[in-house]
Amino acid sequence: MTLKQGSSPSQDGVVESDRPIGLRNDPISVAVNLHPFQGEKAKEHFKTTDPGVDVTRLPVIGKFLARAMKDRKFQFLLIVPNQIIFWIVIAVGIFGVTDPGRNFGPAITWYLWFCLVFVMMVVVGRAWCSMCPFGGFGEWIQRKTFFKRTQKALGLGRKVPESWAGYGLVISVATFILLTFIEEYFNIAGPGAPIATSFMVIGIVTTALLSFLVFERRSFCRYICPLSSLIGSVGSMGMVSGFRTRDREVCMSCQTKDCMRGSEDGFGCPWYTWPGSADSNALCGLCSECYKSCPSDNIGLFVQAPLTSVIQPVKRRLDIGIAVAALFGLVFYQQYNALGWYGTIDDKLNSILHWPHYPDPVAYLGGIGLGALAVWALTMLVRAIAKPLAGSSSKSSWFTTIAYALIPITGADYFSRQLPKFFKHVTRVGSAIVHPLGMHPGIYNTRLLSDPSIVSVQLAVMGLGTAASLYAAYRISQRDLGPQSSRPRAVVTATLVMVFAISVLATIVYMPMHAAS
Ligand code: SF4
Ligand code: SF4
Ligand code: SF4
Repeated sequence: MTLKQGSSPSQDGVVESDRPIGLRNDPISVAVNLHPFQGEKAKEHFKTTDPGVDVTRLPVIGKFLARAMKDRKFQFLLIVPNQIIFWIVIAVGIFGVTDPGRNFGPAITWYLWFCLVFVMMVVVGRAWCSMCPFGGFGEWIQRKTFFKRTQKALGLGRKVPESWAGYGLVISVATFILLTFIEEYFNIAGPGAPIATSFMVIGIVTTALLSFLVFERRSFCRYICPLSSLIGSVGSMGMVSGFRTRDREVCMSCQTKDCMRGSEDGFGCPWYTWPGSADSNALCGLCSECYKSCPSDNIGLFVQAPLTSVIQPVKRRLDIGIAVAALFGLVFYQQYNALGWYGTIDDKLNSILHWPHYPDPVAYLGGIGLGALAVWALTMLVRAIAKPLAGSSSKSSWFTTIAYALIPITGADYFSRQLPKFFKHVTRVGSAIVHPLGMHPGIYNTRLLSDPSIVSVQLAVMGLGTAASLYAAYRISQRDLGPQSSRPRAVVTATLVMVFAISVLATIVYMPMHAAS
């Protein structure tokens, strides 16, 4: 089964089986919109998602940014500092002290980095992807260069099989769920033994490297990376729209499509995202290659109002809908696992299954599946209340539309889960940095906030997430669901009630969790 229609991972709305055989699974033809959006229709189609401000055209900073991004070293310089930290994390995790709080590897990874990535996601979008050492390392090897424009790639250069590509970000959700299971089972992010963090990072970079050597471009980032589904969905709240075309008319008549195929100055889009038809920031890795390669100077870096890529896309992706439901199921499972009463149930389950300790795979996958199914069931309940008009969109499209409204609360939930580690232990990062010098500053046990204060911050973050989700639910249901319903007011109310109920449930669990890490 592949995901079809408004859900299709193709950027152009053409169902893959309708495409001429020779063009199937050709990432360029899949990404480049050759069919539906022509001339004035394009303007109309992208009216709501076309962002307003091109930062490369702003006074002063615009010129500086434009010059920096035309430089081939631009992304290299973003990646290098993280690459250095990343190898230090691996090395000190293996050779450093065994106390995870005094070891720089686990300390920076689990007390600081995960929180920062979330802030970047929510504020910017795929900011982390532009500087990520995993993708950066694989790409350097694949291109056989740190930053030059090379023509021949190292490795097999295969295309991702059509059957995989059809699942879009769903594979990435599966790898995220698998990685989280491994992390929880070995208590890697606890953090436990520092060497476990090193092995986890080595595992990710090895998988990434193999993928870069087998498949072309950033197939790993687009389909496999465990973080991609989280960044792609939660990041759509961000204020950076990504690199987009300045004038779609120019793209329509562009014969070369250098932004996709590459030119002397830049590689073809490693993410298979055609700026000419992009209507969200979900799949732009902010690498700036299209900015370098477009011969018509028709690419800009645009910013948008927060939530634009959640609310405005005309064509929503089922894979993102599934990702949101599964990610919510996962974080909610982790939440109630931190409650005392669930510990008793978990112990019983483990003894029945002869499983040594949390998390047992049955409860883990069952919990995530039940959470995701509950989201699906509630969207179907909204649909039933709405009494859809004849010929209105399918159940999966209905589910996808409402799932987008849950993106802010899901993002807030993941962020809130990280906050206890940050507020209780982030000072240990400083302590771990100077520990090899024989210094033992008194900040090791200094916490930034008490447990009750942490809970208050968590509730505030969840409150913001709830407000953002309700706003998104209102706008989305009014524009997209109301016209398909014989009861347009009821569908708006039902969507709001559903989103509110889910948000409140996830929020109140933080109270009995007492700032559990
Ligand atoms: S998708 Fe994953 S590997 Fe690729 S750049 Fe983003 S975080 Fe890094
Ligand atoms: S190369 Fe430039 S003008 Fe041509 S399709 Fe790409 S962005 Fe548009
Ligand atoms: S080439 Fe352009 S559209 Fe593609 S990922 Fe890089 S910045 Fe985004």
